[in-house]
Amino acid sequence: MKIHEYQAKALFRKYGVPIPEGGVAFSAEEAVEVAETLGGYPVVVKAQIHAGGRGKGGGVKLAPSAEQVQKAAQAIMGMNLVTPQTGPEGRRVRKILVEQGLNIAKELYLSVIPDRATAKIVVMASAAGGMDIEEVAAQTPEKIIKVFINPLLGIQPYHGREVAFGLNLAPALIKPFTSMLKNLYQLFVDYDCSLVEINPLVITAEDTVVALDAKINFDDNGLFRHPDVREYRDLDEEDPLEIEASEFNLNYINLDGNVGNMVNGAGLAMATMDIIKQAGAEPANFLDVGGGASAEMVENGFRIILSDQNVKGILINIFGGILRCDVLAEGVVQAAKKTGINVPVVVRMEGTNIEEGRRILAESGLNLITATDLKDAARKVAGLVGG
Ligand code: GDP
Ligand code: MN
Repeated sequence: MKIHEYQAKALFRKYGVPIPEGGVAFSAEEAVEVAETLGGYPVVVKAQIHAGGRGKGGGVKLAPSAEQVQKAAQAIMGMNLVTPQTGPEGRRVRKILVEQGLNIAKELYLSVIPDRATAKIVVMASAAGGMDIEEVAAQTPEKIIKVFINPLLGIQPYHGREVAFGLNLAPALIKPFTSMLKNLYQLFVDYDCSLVEINPLVITAEDTVVALDAKINFDDNGLFRHPDVREYRDLDEEDPLEIEASEFNLNYINLDGNVGNMVNGAGLAMATMDIIKQAGAEPANFLDVGGGASAEMVENGFRIILSDQNVKGILINIFGGILRCDVLAEGVVQAAKKTGINVPVVVRMEGTNIEEGRRILAESGLNLITATDLKDAARKVAGLVGG
């Protein structure tokens, strides 16, 4: 799950990670009210959306006076913000963060993420932080420091010093930096985060270290033990089809292609997406209906795929184990009868109760295309969508 910058900063405050003074606003008038409480200008007006690169898209503005706050907030609130991370369709801005403006001497990059290869938690940092960090990572990866932390032992003082020395911090900054990093690591672990990122982490002209930006992603599987984080969920920022799927406990992710696919089991779903790509087409979604799906879940999953306007063909790939082929077939038929099928559907099905499943599909009167195996299925669906 993703949250907004102002929410991430509330968690930073709780953990003693320094942030600028500020507050969230839902209108230009409120933005001015917040600005007036900050003890002086300039202030910064920042669009709150679940995507980065806002600075590049015109979603971050420095305002030297109350009138300018009003103007900047007016311009940002309700705008369709297009950034390198939103895609060309952009995101509607519904909230803004108003913060005290800082005198920036230097912009650093800092993040904490799990590293799969080493099964450790990695702290990444760079003295070349700021809006072009992606370019730094691509062109000069040696400018990014990585320090690996064994999660069973936790963060040790030497880890902090290693990062601080790598960033070439002035001696006076090492202590505040390492204590900030320790707190950030604790937040990462306590909240089952999958990413904590500060870009930029700034060194101010007054020689303090402050998190100017804040991004936190959470592992959804850990959310059950963080009711405070679940409160932060913002449905306006989520894909409507994904919200609907989550109501039925379906693992569904909307993607850019045009081949809808419905599969049971996450591994099989990933293999199916690979083979769709190999056949020259692009998957429109990831959908794992789950090993023990009921006919109702299958029906809901199929209906969600059918309602995606980008879908030009569907591949159903089911290996009947706990989810039997007849149950799957029943769900598909129910959904098709209710929604109607307006795109070609290729079915590849094997396993438990396969004969019964085939019979249900054959007698349904639906126009389904059967495939002999996975490769055949992928080729057929790719051909049908013009891949
Ligand atoms: P992002 O573009 O979505 O990552 O948004 P950021 O919060 O990182 O802001 C983008 C850029 O705006 C930063 O890299 C800074 O250069 C600039 N910026 C943000 N806040 C301030 C501030 O208080 N003072 C100054 N001078 N610049 C700021
Ligand atoms: Mn940023």
